[in-house]
Amino acid sequence: MLSPSAPSPAVAPNSLAVTVSAIDALLPQTQCQRCTYADCKDYATAIARGEAEINRCPPGGSATRIALAALLGRDLSAFPALAADVDAYAEEHVALIDEARCIGCAKCLPVCPTDAIIGATKRMHTVIANDCTGCELCIIACPVDCIELTPKQTFANAAHRSLEARSAQSTALRNSYTAHKIRFAARADEGLSAMLVSSAAHIEQSPADKQRDRKALLADIMAKAKSRQ
Ligand code: SF4
Ligand code: SF4
Ligand code: SF4
Repeated sequence: MLSPSAPSPAVAPNSLAVTVSAIDALLPQTQCQRCTYADCKDYATAIARGEAEINRCPPGGSATRIALAALLGRDLSAFPALAADVDAYAEEHVALIDEARCIGCAKCLPVCPTDAIIGATKRMHTVIANDCTGCELCIIACPVDCIELTPKQTFANAAHRSLEARSAQSTALRNSYTAHKIRFAARADEGLSAMLVSSAAHIEQSPADKQRDRKALLADIMAKAKSRQ
């Protein structure tokens, strides 16, 4: 039996791709980085390689933990809750931009996994609520702190307690993220690579940019979101 502090052995390389796909299919596709990986696929890869445990996905909740344990033959009792170092996720919240304070820097655009933010450089930006998962990545990226979370259930952020109920949402989020990556990769090819902040790099860049600690920032966002409920 494996414990949370002893990740499972890596799978054979020739079955890695299949395993990654099977694991990724059980993840919610919120692409929020709470697991500390760049996106759901990266986390799936880390699990498949035996580098990460199955209890690191807040949006997936217990349904994902149960499904991953079943898929990988893990003892679920070893993972009764989320890993202690994983940041909380505010269910059924969306980002709201204070348009009066937005400076139009467009830094929130490349980090949004669902392309839920519209606006051009030096123009006011706004969030399409129905496409917003509340992942908070735009809040971390915004240099003037003009984005907050506010409670609102949408198609993209509705909490589901089973993978079956979540299926349509996860498929849509995966498709949206794939389109987002293609769109911004094309922009990078056009010489806008500075705009293409990869998720992994973003984790590194954010504290330097904002002189703020990511973890403290997320805690602050959560506290503000709770105070609005
Ligand atoms: S939804 Fe967020 S925490 Fe869960 S696997 Fe995807 S990126 Fe990681
Ligand atoms: S608008 Fe912000 S919170 Fe909403 S999905 Fe995009 S990055 Fe995440
Ligand atoms: S990052 Fe903030 S200031 Fe910049 S465009 Fe987005 S909301 Fe406006």
